[in-house]
Amino acid sequence: MASVDDDLLDAFDERTGRAAVGLWAAPGRVNLIGEHTDYNDGFVMPFALEQRVRIAAAPRDDGRWQVSSLNQGSTESFGADDLRPGMSGWQAYAAGVVWALEQAGHTIAGADLVLASDVPVGAGLSSSAALECAVLTTLADLNSLDIGLLDRARLAQRCENEFVGAPTGLMDQAASIMCTADHALFFDCRSYAADQVALDLSGAGLELLVLDTKTPHALVDSEYAARRASCEAACDVLGLAALRDIDDLDAALGRLADPVMKRRVRHVVTENDRVRQAAEALADGRIRALAPLLDASHASMRDDFEITVPPVDLAVESARAGGALGARMTGGGFGGCIIALVGTGEASGVAEQIGAAFARAGYGPPEHFVARPSAGAGRIS
Ligand code: ADP
Ligand code: MG
Repeated sequence: MASVDDDLLDAFDERTGRAAVGLWAAPGRVNLIGEHTDYNDGFVMPFALEQRVRIAAAPRDDGRWQVSSLNQGSTESFGADDLRPGMSGWQAYAAGVVWALEQAGHTIAGADLVLASDVPVGAGLSSSAALECAVLTTLADLNSLDIGLLDRARLAQRCENEFVGAPTGLMDQAASIMCTADHALFFDCRSYAADQVALDLSGAGLELLVLDTKTPHALVDSEYAARRASCEAACDVLGLAALRDIDDLDAALGRLADPVMKRRVRHVVTENDRVRQAAEALADGRIRALAPLLDASHASMRDDFEITVPPVDLAVESARAGGALGARMTGGGFGGCIIALVGTGEASGVAEQIGAAFARAGYGPPEHFVARPSAGAGRIS
């Protein structure tokens, strides 16, 4: 067993005075392509990261849940009476999972959970979904619940939407629960059809750099809500259930008067096309064909959806100048991470060039890693 798992089991012993009955984990994710398409009933293509939230757990017989985050250095405890939407603090992501399971008619016994995570927080790699899905996977096993993968993802989403109060789509939880190693998940956010598409980067002589710009997401909540509202308003004008339903983009644009709304619609429609093209390319083993799609996605997010910020644009431009085949911001926007498709062994060099450009621009140092498409949530031991 890896020492990180041993450390977590030791931490469990120290905090609870007894041994854990098992270890569970759920990953963060990076979205290869398909940004702000999920809540428009469209397409996304995330893959799961190696980085994940790990949980050591054991049942308790007093009907309470005690959750320790080694990252936060805090231990929180709650009982059935505390399970009210709007709870504050990081423990809401755990309590909300208990709440969502109980809302769905399951009975959840008390438990001790000690968790540790290496998913960067607030970087757009979905540490929140990793936490929810890890708690959900742990509690489902401890309570011998038979819940399908899609339903698990939807329960974790319900926690985030209704208990924590963040109006996000299903992508993050679907990725954390349903992804498999060496694949991306081509996910239809309307039908929930999920296709595993092979993503053998090293076999193609490639690697995927993830670079965290470390830009604070000051505006993310209000701007996210504004983008959603704009998409909904466009649907009202067009008489459509979702922007997914636009077949003829030019005709739709001709019926919209507001130039901002036109740009928002154009992003969503062209981004859905790019996700479909990316899925076809991967199904044919043409991984390099992702590169121009990544570039076009970034331009669309920058110019039409207007969700990038100067450090993110600089990171993408510097990646391209440094030899990346294609690059884009990933995640909801206004900061966070970029991804860049580069040749094997080139990620560090490209990251160094971005770091140098950041220093010249007076930005703080970014952080980076090479992403490997990894397994979704499950029991480790
Ligand atoms: P993202 O999902 O992009 O990383 P969010 O703002 O959606 O960013 O979620 C981050 C929040 O999730 C943190 O502020 C914290 O409340 C919670 N969280 C994530 N990882 C941990 C962890 N290891 N321990 C405790 N809370 C965590
Ligand atoms: Mg999140």
